[in-house]
Amino acid sequence: MSAIKGKNTKPELLVRKFLFSRGFRYRLNHPRLPGHPDLVLRKYRTVIFVNGCFWHGHKGCRFYVLPKTHVEFWKTKIEHNRKRDVDEQRQLASMGWHCITVWECQLKPNVRQQTLESLAHTLNLIYLQDHATHYIIKEEEEEQMKVAEESD
Ligand SMILES: [Zn+2]
Repeated sequence: MSAIKGKNTKPELLVRKFLFSRGFRYRLNHPRLPGHPDLVLRKYRTVIFVNGCFWHGHKGCRFYVLPKTHVEFWKTKIEHNRKRDVDEQRQLASMGWHCITVWECQLKPNVRQQTLESLAHTLNLIYLQDHATHYIIKEEEEEQMKVAEESD
């Protein structure tokens, strides 16, 4: 992907700058994870892809317009990219990672702030949910221990 995606693209920098300013910490382009996600937030068990609308074939997006020549070539190529994205995200999910895709068009000036705020919101929600789950499991374990004690 790196040949296509390029490093430090402007949309990616926007996301990084915003997250950093809000206190989120991340690693970049983790080489060992499927798809080499742009950002990896271990604390949130979350990876973020910042995707160009054309190369990744953003469905229904006005920035995803096939060139007028070599249409079949481009169609096949973009369809291949899209399929690979889905496969990679499936793999990541099976490894316990949350996957978030931020599209380039969602970072255009008129919608940028909204997109970034909702990204921060989603991350906080993920964190709370993960920890709420742990808490509930703990409570259940305590209940089981009590039951065990009583039946002794
Ligand atoms: Zn788009």
